[in-house]
Amino acid sequence: MIWRPFRGGIKPKEFKEATATKPIVTVPLPPRVILPLQQHLGERANPVVVRDELVEAGQIIGNSAAFISAPVHASISGTVTRVTAEVIEIARRNREGVRELSTGKWENLDKLPADAIRCIARKAGIVGLGGATFPTAVKLTPPAGCWVNTLIINGCECEPYLTADHRLMVEQSAEIVFGAYAMAQALQAVRIIFAVEDNKPDAAKKLAEALTAAQLRPYGAIIRNTTAEVRLVPSRYPQGAEKQLIWSLTGRVVPLGGLPAQVGVLVHNVATAYALAEAIRKAKPLIERVVTVTGPIVNAPGNYLVRLGTPIRELLAYAGGVKEPVKAIILGGPMMGEAQVDDGAPVTKGTSGVLVFGEADLAPVRQTRCIRCARCVEVCPMGLEPLYLARLAEKELWSEAVQAGAAYCLECGSCAYICPAKRPVAELIRRAKVKCQEGGIVDERQAGSQSRTASA
Ligand code: SF4
Ligand code: SF4
Repeated sequence: MIWRPFRGGIKPKEFKEATATKPIVTVPLPPRVILPLQQHLGERANPVVVRDELVEAGQIIGNSAAFISAPVHASISGTVTRVTAEVIEIARRNREGVRELSTGKWENLDKLPADAIRCIARKAGIVGLGGATFPTAVKLTPPAGCWVNTLIINGCECEPYLTADHRLMVEQSAEIVFGAYAMAQALQAVRIIFAVEDNKPDAAKKLAEALTAAQLRPYGAIIRNTTAEVRLVPSRYPQGAEKQLIWSLTGRVVPLGGLPAQVGVLVHNVATAYALAEAIRKAKPLIERVVTVTGPIVNAPGNYLVRLGTPIRELLAYAGGVKEPVKAIILGGPMMGEAQVDDGAPVTKGTSGVLVFGEADLAPVRQTRCIRCARCVEVCPMGLEPLYLARLAEKELWSEAVQAGAAYCLECGSCAYICPAKRPVAELIRRAKVKCQEGGIVDERQAGSQSRTASA
């Protein structure tokens, strides 16, 4: 099958060797968790518990009636010690069980109509775990008039350092395949493509084996009615971005401001498919996730299964601590992740990685004037002119920035990465996007699109 190269992109050094072969290790339950009520795109959940209340792991502690939202579950059993509009904290009691979803446990997908699968995804609090954090139940509900015939399961993990999805594909391929078929059932899709970058051949092999096993012992008619294949794509950043992946694998172009469903495709991350399988088969809500903890100064870099809400400092301590004073912590990958001011922030549904750097790893950046080399234009996967957008942002010409296409920026960071003048191009464009959103300045072409694509 033909693979189409997407426009632009970069080939950063991968830095994955420290963790790519490390099996997933389960972190012991933390003594305390901090659970933000906004771990997803859409409406924030409201607290449904009060201070001093005893809660069980798996119990809903925050919820919203809004369509685009997701419930938040207690990730450990214990006593609620703090409740605000933004966050709930729980101190652990010595109980380890997890309250199951009321949806039951299902092995046969024939017994689960599309609405039941969406209901399970919603009750389990599942969101896009590749970083986008869009509620999965909503994504599995395409707009009226759109038939999603093709489902892409995204195992690209194109950001440097991150290997959590890689290990999940190697160790939990059967669950990922089950979750993918459940998604296909919800969408009535007739084709599933598992997309894996060619730097993870072991993951592609495991998924292919799991697909064969599913076809030998089908758990529903969907397996016979749907074609499924594993496709290797060249490793190039940002191959895992939704629009770029759809183009590479199907040749379909998502219109500017449009949604993938409009071209009959949906992209879900491998970890999201895994979470859905856990919810359907084990009635398990989303209370934990796999996180890559790595960076030059981490003593025991690895892939850790950790309860949501665990403070980064505890996760880091479990990973052997650090060799020297911490200079920077990034949650997510180095290209699209968020720098943290300290190690007190918790792991949330969108945390795919914790990257830790020391003084020597962060060479001082000497920023100079733009030399108009156009390298940022060459690498921009969205065909934008980052140098021009950045200049508009510097001048605070927000309206002009949006007319020049700032809203279509993926925030992939390729322009900043390549810039010989070390200009913070992506950061400036991101600021323009935020200002436009805050000021209600929209490009008409953008109506309905999601602001940040990440890796679905
Ligand atoms: S890559 Fe940097 S220096 Fe070159 S045109 Fe873009 S912003 Fe200017
Ligand atoms: S951050 Fe935005 S402007 Fe820069 S390369 Fe990526 S999509 Fe283009």
